[in-house]
Formats: sequence, C-alpha cells, structure tokens
Amino acid sequence: MLTGLGLVTVVLLAALFWYYVIYNPAAQTDWERLPTLTQYRQQHPQCARGEQTLCCHCGSAEHLDLGLLQYTDWRRQIMCRQCKNRLWRESD
Ligand SMILES: [Zn+2]
Repeated sequence: MLTGLGLVTVVLLAALFWYYVIYNPAAQTDWERLPTLTQYRQQHPQCARGEQTLCCHCGSAEHLDLGLLQYTDWRRQIMCRQCKNRLWRESD
C-alpha cells in the first residue's frame, strides 16, 4: 500500500520520466529550429510548386514523415526520401 509520500514520489518520478525521456527538451528545441511547412515554402519559393513541395537540397518531391523520437511522436519531421535532409516540422 502506498503512503502519501510514496504516492508523491511515484507521481514525481513519472513526471520526470515523461519530461526527460518522452518530451526530451533538447529534442524539442532541435525540432523547433525546423521551419513549418508554410515557413519552408516562403524560405524556398523555388521549391513550392502548386500543392507540391520539393526538397530544397536535391529537388525530390518524395518525403518521409517521421516521429521526432519515436514512431508515434506527435512532433513530426518531414525528411527528403532521396537525400535524407530534414525539411520541415509538423505536429499531429
Ligand atoms: Zn533531398
């Protein structure tokens, strides 16, 4: 049976685990450095072709939609399928 102090400890450990392992502030900062799709298209107008957005490094139109730290991460990063450069960020 958990005492009051034991319950506080469990909640605190769970919060610390979530913050440093799941959320990961360093990864969050890195992800926020990526432009959004709108910003990316404004920064690289030559890569915005109608609905399509091309890679500004190699011109490929094929992208990978990857979670930042894990497959189900709400922080998505769009990467070029061809040259593997990270292009922009999205969130689910
Ligand atoms: Zn590319």
